[in-house]
Amino acid sequence: MTQVPLRPSVAALPPYVPGARTQVGAAAFKLSSNENPFPPLASVVSAIADGAMDVNRYPDMHATELAEAIGAHLGVNPAGVVTGNGSVAVLAHVLAAVCDAGDEVVFPWRSFEAYPIAAGVAGAHGVRVPLTADSRLDLPAMAAAVTDRTRVLLLCTPNNPTGPAVRADELAQLLAVVPRNVLVILDEAYVEFVRDPQAADGLAVFAQHPNVVLLRTFSKAYGLAGLRVGYAVARPRLAAGIRAVSTPFGVSHLAQLAALASLRAADELMIRVQAVVDERSRMLAGLRGQGWRVPESEGNFVWLPLGDRAVAFAEQSARAGVLVRPFAGDGVRVSVGEREATDLLLEVAQAFTR
Ligand SMILES: *Cc1c(COP(=O)(O)O)cnc(C)c1O
Repeated sequence: MTQVPLRPSVAALPPYVPGARTQVGAAAFKLSSNENPFPPLASVVSAIADGAMDVNRYPDMHATELAEAIGAHLGVNPAGVVTGNGSVAVLAHVLAAVCDAGDEVVFPWRSFEAYPIAAGVAGAHGVRVPLTADSRLDLPAMAAAVTDRTRVLLLCTPNNPTGPAVRADELAQLLAVVPRNVLVILDEAYVEFVRDPQAADGLAVFAQHPNVVLLRTFSKAYGLAGLRVGYAVARPRLAAGIRAVSTPFGVSHLAQLAALASLRAADELMIRVQAVVDERSRMLAGLRGQGWRVPESEGNFVWLPLGDRAVAFAEQSARAGVLVRPFAGDGVRVSVGEREATDLLLEVAQAFTR
């Protein structure tokens, strides 16, 4: 034994593969990371610039002002709002607060690639429940996967990377059968882009069920992916537990100021969200018009179930100047961004032999 051993669960973790990045100066559209295509608002940039003079100080550890602003914005108790360095970090903290070694975390698959990593890091056993044939979360199968060891059920709605949102009726049925000591996390990273009237209303569900936690982020609709701010909405007792395991000072002062400025500019930002939703409709209609079978999307991305052709499609698309995200053997996720990017993507899709 001459080497420091890694924890076996860490050695077994799958890598998080980030979306392809453009070379500096390269002419390519980056539709590979579900980012917001719009640059930050001037009011947000100036809030960040103002904060630059204070970076010799630690930030407000619990982002009190931001938690209060989020509470007011959503109509929830700010004592239940826990911020973190992106909602991916908040998810890790939620799992750390409730999971012991060997506990089970049930999540859909294919879904957000951070889930198996987060479960593994928490020392929990990740249980993957396959999606339905039409790329939706299979809620009855997820409910059936719950055992005595299950501590957490993790739902991604809308599901990244496939697009559909969980419906209110199916979620109500799930919550009626899941034991009340099992935490149900609704990862609503894309909630602002949802337009399906049948989609579950996370806040209403949270109000009714003490075992529900919402995860939200400023990375997508609010366009602050580079500053890393996300949060959980939980009952205050759970929130206190999540705070207890959180990285101290996890949200920088600049990120707190930018998130506050973004909430103040929410109306303006939601106009941009609507533009992305409109562009999503155009991309979906264009693809379907070409004969592609693509699931409905409630996020800022569209899923092409290409199976073994996924990587080949991504390569062809990159050659045309559009970076997309392939999941080898499964499909390609295309983020919705600039209009010209949609046009190029549709040209690639038209020419691609399926
Ligand atoms: C992008 C995304 C997040 C948010 O990540 P941040 O860490 O807040 O940037 C969370 N969940 C899902 C499903 C996502 O796609």
